[in-house]
Amino acid sequence: MPDLEGRDPLTGATIGRYAEASPTDIRAAMARARESQAAYAAAGIPARVALLAALRKTMAGAVEEITEAVVRATGKVHVEALAGDLMVTLEMLAYCESRCPEVLAPQERPSPLLYRGCRSWVEYRPFGVVAVIAPWNFPLQLSLVPALFALAAGNAVLLKPSEVTPSVGALIQDLWSRAGGPPGLLQVLQGGPEVGRALVAEGPDKVFFTGSVATGRQVMAAAAERLIPVELELGGKDPMLVFDDAPMPRAVNAALYGAMSNAGQTCVSVERCYVQRPLYRDFCQQAAAGAQRLRLGQGVDADLGPLIRPEQVDTVMDHLDDALARGARLLTPRRVEGNRVHPMVLADVTHEMKVMRHETFGPLLPVMAFDDEQQAVALANDSRYGLNAAVFSGDAERCRRVAARLQVGNVAINDVLKNIGNPHLPFGGVKQSGMGRYHGPEGLLAFSEPVALVQSAGTADREVNWFPYGRTAIRAVEAFIAARHGGGLVDRGRQLLGALFRS
Ligand code: NAD
Repeated sequence: MPDLEGRDPLTGATIGRYAEASPTDIRAAMARARESQAAYAAAGIPARVALLAALRKTMAGAVEEITEAVVRATGKVHVEALAGDLMVTLEMLAYCESRCPEVLAPQERPSPLLYRGCRSWVEYRPFGVVAVIAPWNFPLQLSLVPALFALAAGNAVLLKPSEVTPSVGALIQDLWSRAGGPPGLLQVLQGGPEVGRALVAEGPDKVFFTGSVATGRQVMAAAAERLIPVELELGGKDPMLVFDDAPMPRAVNAALYGAMSNAGQTCVSVERCYVQRPLYRDFCQQAAAGAQRLRLGQGVDADLGPLIRPEQVDTVMDHLDDALARGARLLTPRRVEGNRVHPMVLADVTHEMKVMRHETFGPLLPVMAFDDEQQAVALANDSRYGLNAAVFSGDAERCRRVAARLQVGNVAINDVLKNIGNPHLPFGGVKQSGMGRYHGPEGLLAFSEPVALVQSAGTADREVNWFPYGRTAIRAVEAFIAARHGGGLVDRGRQLLGALFRS
């Protein structure tokens, strides 16, 4: 069984070796998951809440350990591991615990007029086994949060963490076991694309994938072969629009935070910034000055860590060079040391440049001028992606008007990135940023099959629509349509219906 190495992105040193799951391991894990899920679903929602609460307690008691493990696996700065990975995950756990009993409770629904004596309702049942395939940029949050929503909805989870951050996958398995989680209910399968492919081929009941567009397409094609429902959380090229009545310092600071936090390796990063012409020059200067004040390094006082995958440096520099060759201006020094890339601000960019078309996923903020609202919206929507967007203006009405026209799954007004951290809001993308939503009630429902039930009083020998057919049945349906929807026969319809129900 080949070993998978977890590496420290700063030093390249091996931080652990993990056994890759073989096809036999995956098959056995699926069998265990099915067995465990049946017992778990039968135990009901209070048992799920208790399990989630135990996991939250275990994690809250291991804050240092978890934060350090995420820092080690990704090189990200301490506060981002603590807030972006751990705190968000704990908040999502608390949300699932408190909201799943109500969101997933059976719902009474009205019965149509002709369903005399019937009761109709919906029950939210788990899919069964959910495969969660995760990326490396927030290795704890993006692995565990979909798993938690799936577990809260009564599913078992087979989690394949990124092969770039296997140590965090191993930690998740350990935390689960320390929380007393049934071993079959959440199982971590280590490995790369091969293991991801084999997991989908094993026939889970739903696949939840977070990653790139190219891989998402492959996952969806493989799932389509087996008619497995998929949810895809893919890349973004998120626009931020700054109108000329926006508060300048806040907009500049937001753009820097939105573009550079997690060293730009966030699916909802600000990847394109559009500034109304009267503010453009000042905005660019202030953003460039602010970018140069950001501190690269480690520890509690640093703002940015390295890029997690060395290959990511090549993508960032390729986008930069392409933009410079096409006439963009770099307003900050070009400094790259290993996989540490100093924050950069680019002015005079156009939509012909890669940096405005493809996901950069690094600390590079391209800024472009616009003249009016119409043009701002057109530029923001001129993308194959549609994940997040930000609108900055002092005019609340304009913010709402612009937000309503943006083709994205999430909009932050006079703010950036916040949507993804609010457990009460659904999160997901449109266009090639993906399909489906998690977080919020939508997220709990996304891991549930709504099952529709109808119960008759069951006392009559037959219902009016049952055999035998004949003129009476036709007249009854005509009468019903006339009574409900008009058409000149209303009174006659009412009489006939009255007669029918009296008979
Ligand atoms: P990736 O697509 O390379 O890999 C994601 C996961 O898929 C990994 O676990 C990988 O091993 C697995 N995988 C690869 N090929 C597979 C296959 N054929 N079948 C099944 N699994 C396979 O993405 P990445 O480089 O790990 O992550 C970065 C990308 O993720 C960026 O594009 C980023 O925008 C996106 N992302 C999206 C969100 C979101 O919520 N929309 C969040 C974070 C990251």
